[in-house]
Amino acid sequence: MISKSNRAILSVVLLCTMLLFSCTPTSTEDATSDVGTLALGEVSDRFRAEPDEDSVPTEEKDTAELSSENESDAAPLPIATIVEDMRPSLGHGPKGVAYQKYIMLHDTEGSADPYSVVSWWDSNGSLVAAHFVVGVDGVVVQCVALDTIAHHAGFGDVGHNSLFGTPEDGRDDKLGTASIGESYPDYGMNSYSVGIELVHIGGSGHYPEAQLNALDSLIAYIDSYYGFESKIIDHKAWRTSNSDTSAEFAEYLHNYQSHRTHS
Ligand SMILES: [Zn+2]
Repeated sequence: MISKSNRAILSVVLLCTMLLFSCTPTSTEDATSDVGTLALGEVSDRFRAEPDEDSVPTEEKDTAELSSENESDAAPLPIATIVEDMRPSLGHGPKGVAYQKYIMLHDTEGSADPYSVVSWWDSNGSLVAAHFVVGVDGVVVQCVALDTIAHHAGFGDVGHNSLFGTPEDGRDDKLGTASIGESYPDYGMNSYSVGIELVHIGGSGHYPEAQLNALDSLIAYIDSYYGFESKIIDHKAWRTSNSDTSAEFAEYLHNYQSHRTHS
């Protein structure tokens, strides 16, 4: 886990990330201070919880073993945990089940642990965050509810709102959002996606198995939550100048898109 003395390093790394457009859009407005509905470290065994039938899922579901209703005959994935560190100030509008289309994967481009990443997002004023952060040890921290828009995708290439079927319909409050130039005018993706950040620096080597296993379980949980399989993409699919996910993830991304696990 990162110490307080590493916050400066975290800040530099994430600032570099923003400058490189590798992960986050630019933004200018101040964050609000309404944060922390759940204490850090509060763990919820919500992975692979069974979705309620005929109802919009909520974040307050009881822990439940996943039934085989929505699964193939494949061996069950390991059950993991999500640590809830919810930050309401990082939510930007409603994103009910009817609007869910994509799971977007990112790299943090830093080595800070998920707790520190969430704290940074909630303190830097950019109002940018993903719903989940997956650490190298497999710890998963959630900071934005699945029924809420998070600003993780930022601006996409010209025409990508149409290409991805993500029209800007006014649900996104766009707080903190600032243009990054004429080449990236489209901003609909946040309203139709769930963002997952992997703690990883592009070019630094392979993703640890524990992290990949946790991502397997997280994707299975998201699929279960919505009751269907969202399309899995990485950030650079939306904005082609991005680096994340890194080249080391290419085979895993292909596998996720093919059969929803890394191997
Ligand atoms: Zn990204």
